Amino acid sequence: MSAEKMEFKTELKQLLHLITHSLYSNREIFLRELISNASDAINKVRFDSLSNEDRLEGNKDWKIKLSADEKAGTLTISDNGIGMNRDAIVDHLGTIAKSGTRAFLDSLKQQDVKLRPDLIGQFGVGFYSSFMVADRVVVTSRTAGSPADGVRWESDGQGDFVVESCEKATRGTDVILHLKEDAKEYLKPWSLRSLVKKYSDFIEHAVVMDVEHEDEGKKEIVEDELNTRTALWLRNKSEVEPEEYEAFYEQISNDSAKPGRVIHYTAEGNNEFRVLAFIPSRKPFSLTWEEPKGLKLYIQRVLIMDSCEGLLPPYLRFVRGIVDSSDLPLNISRELLQKNPLLEKIQKNVVRNVIEALEAMKNVEYDRYVAFFQDLGVMLKDGAARDWANKEKLVDLLLFQSTKTETGKYTTLADYVSRMPAEQKDIVYLIGESREIIESSPLLEAFRAKDWEVLLLTEAMDEFLFPSLHEYRGKSLKPADHSDTDVPADGPTAEDAEYKEFLGMLKTKLPEVSDVRLSRRLKESASCLVADKEGMTAHYERLMMKMGRVEEESKRVLEVNASHPAVSALLSLYAQDPSDPRIENYGRLLYDQAVIAEGSKVKDPAAFSRRINELMSRSLGVV
Ligand code: ADP
Repeated sequence: MSAEKMEFKTELKQLLHLITHSLYSNREIFLRELISNASDAINKVRFDSLSNEDRLEGNKDWKIKLSADEKAGTLTISDNGIGMNRDAIVDHLGTIAKSGTRAFLDSLKQQDVKLRPDLIGQFGVGFYSSFMVADRVVVTSRTAGSPADGVRWESDGQGDFVVESCEKATRGTDVILHLKEDAKEYLKPWSLRSLVKKYSDFIEHAVVMDVEHEDEGKKEIVEDELNTRTALWLRNKSEVEPEEYEAFYEQISNDSAKPGRVIHYTAEGNNEFRVLAFIPSRKPFSLTWEEPKGLKLYIQRVLIMDSCEGLLPPYLRFVRGIVDSSDLPLNISRELLQKNPLLEKIQKNVVRNVIEALEAMKNVEYDRYVAFFQDLGVMLKDGAARDWANKEKLVDLLLFQSTKTETGKYTTLADYVSRMPAEQKDIVYLIGESREIIESSPLLEAFRAKDWEVLLLTEAMDEFLFPSLHEYRGKSLKPADHSDTDVPADGPTAEDAEYKEFLGMLKTKLPEVSDVRLSRRLKESASCLVADKEGMTAHYERLMMKMGRVEEESKRVLEVNASHPAVSALLSLYAQDPSDPRIENYGRLLYDQAVIAEGSKVKDPAAFSRRINELMSRSLGVV
């Protein structure tokens, strides 16, 4: 087949442009990316060969070889992995395959890359990072078959590439980098050695390089292995140094921060498996809700799946690590494997251990836990709402701000309950956009007067979590903005009979509300709005509207404060002359105030201003 010139896909062009122009300072990671591709390719052919030994062509001395040619200025990375045919090479090396790479591109668009060169290290942009160090890249590759089936790909990373057939003696892929003038350091053995040590030491396949060896005066070329490739999880916990865990974590997660907690154990009993997993110290850039989740699954040291969903529930998607089982069958399809009941058992065990690690972190390294929770606590909340089996433990891991914590400090539900005065029956919370907004809500006045603590919640997830919890240690969880939440009152407050008719009249003038009542929760303010028994609270409704799940506003209950002078004066006015037009006008102002206080918008701002201005004019004696 003759050579064919093809264009890169558009977004790949953007990526290549960024890579070659902006990401200079981190360019050494190209080697990690290429070695990791080579290692993946070896894992793939090894996995396939479990059911089809012929694919190996007798070539199963798994290794990745680095060859530097000083004269030609090339560095070649060769593997004896699965290889690519023409379609695969066009497909894989002409478009962006990886979701992580797309996330990377998106985040680059939002940031000034020159300010954040470390970003690239956290994502890994795969094969294309070659163009940070090379101005021309040639790839020759072949899948199992005959030497004539080879394919050659070449590009300068500018906009197009050329593919053609070629002869290749062995199965696998060679990536040949024609190094840029200022990247020639990557031809030096010491430089390659230190890069492999730094980034790829735990790659399970040997990374080798030819070196000259002198034995009793005789020189010979031998292959030197550059990585230690110890499967860290097979070693005894007591023999592993913290730095080794950190390096391994960085390698599997691309997160340059140290892990928050290491989980390393062997489960024994009917089924034996080993687990090495990490809780990040903060949210890694590459973590998204869409990203594939799960741990790497090894069966007897062979990587079977890169992210096995069956091993972790979605809410623990921030955990990175591996599970190595000796009891799962090696040679069945991944689909069937996912259905194996042993996976479920392993998942249960992993979840229990992750939760215990989080508990330990919270009890022993509280500051570290808080930093983790500020970034990723929302996922634990998601878990507490969904994972019924572990709900209680997960709820105890949650941190909340409250009227008794300083800004930025937290309490747990257990601590909250221990502070509850005897007469307080329920746990009270209020959800809103920010702590500041919630704290200034009139709904808190009675609780504050009684010195009852209220949880101040600001995450959208809280709206889903709290209703799903119902109770904690026998105490109901009640939103402060709900009409049936018990509010502390000092003796009888409401002069219901006296107000009955007046409130009924107000209700007819305010079709926006479902009822008008006397309030027990107000001390200083004149009015507030609360959700009706089955109704939505204002914050929840705003949230649902944003998500397009609710179109129409629901009606809320207007509560007025009988001990407020404005309210009692209005009652007197009503007693004197029920038809005085000011009653409706000022009644409406009580409603508008409550709308503003709950963080919603006044429907008719012009009419609102008119009413305020009329009031001002009156009080200044103009009207
Ligand atoms: P990623 O490896 O993260 O998917 P890359 O851009 O590095 O992204 O590579 C794209 C694809 O090209 C890989 O998914 C793989 O299918 C193929 N590929 C890259 N390098 C090799 C290799 N050495 N051997 C076989 N296939 C490879």
